[in-house]
Amino acid sequence: MKYTPKEIPEEVNVTKVHPLVNFAYLLGTVVGFTLLVYFGLGIAANFLVPRISNKREKQIGDLLAPAVTNQLNAKEIEDDKRIEYIEDLIESLRGEAANREIPLTLHLLDSKIQNAAALAGGHVFVTTGFLKSVKSENELAFVLAHELGHLAARDSLKGLGRSLPLMFILIVVDFGTSGSGGTPNIIKQTVNLTAMNYSREQEYAADVYGLSAAIARYGHGEHSLDFFERIAKIEEKSRLGNNVSEYFSTHPLTKKRVDILKELAAENGWSMEGEITPLPDGLECSNFECGGS
Ligand SMILES: [Zn+2]
Repeated sequence: MKYTPKEIPEEVNVTKVHPLVNFAYLLGTVVGFTLLVYFGLGIAANFLVPRISNKREKQIGDLLAPAVTNQLNAKEIEDDKRIEYIEDLIESLRGEAANREIPLTLHLLDSKIQNAAALAGGHVFVTTGFLKSVKSENELAFVLAHELGHLAARDSLKGLGRSLPLMFILIVVDFGTSGSGGTPNIIKQTVNLTAMNYSREQEYAADVYGLSAAIARYGHGEHSLDFFERIAKIEEKSRLGNNVSEYFSTHPLTKKRVDILKELAAENGWSMEGEITPLPDGLECSNFECGGS
């Protein structure tokens, strides 16, 4: 008997679905999963911000602080009498309502760039360039109190956005948070800590916080807004923005912002007239010691 092989059907091993349809399914799954993770992290971040404990906030800030110094490309000054002065000044500006359980840590950075910033967990960064640019304690206090306003509102935690849940997990499982490892690379690469852009509403709230804290300390708001006004004028003239002060690349400033604060003060009957409080001599020099030995 002659053997006749059975004819192989043409479509064996070939799915009846068109390959492009298969590809679309695969692509859809990948995109869908990515969107799920993306929105999931966003929802988790919004959920976490008001619920995170002060202890966890401090741990997150401690973890990130070295990365801020790195990203600002500055060296931290460890031993300087000016640190104590600024710490005392910030402490005196802290309202009773602010999250006082978190101790403040001041980082004085050696950098010509004028900048002041706050990071979750009570970390405040001030550059020597900024100290050189202020002309009265009133304006120094206002800028510091503005940063306290961001801390009180947890703006820095909010600014971490989708990185926050990941960081929270790192801390809870104690991965890379103990020992001398410093900030894990994943965080250094995913968060640009020096370019945290706050919304106009967040800036306004921090301004109001700053001005009321300065008024509480000095009894009036005169000279508090001088630094802002001066920079606003220079920026208006030059239109170069970032060259003047890096502070305002993260804190966009317009003359309008100053005007709004003055209006607010007038509406609330806050005194905007009073004596200037001078800066201590030598604030621009290490240990307040300027000139020859
Ligand atoms: Zn701000």
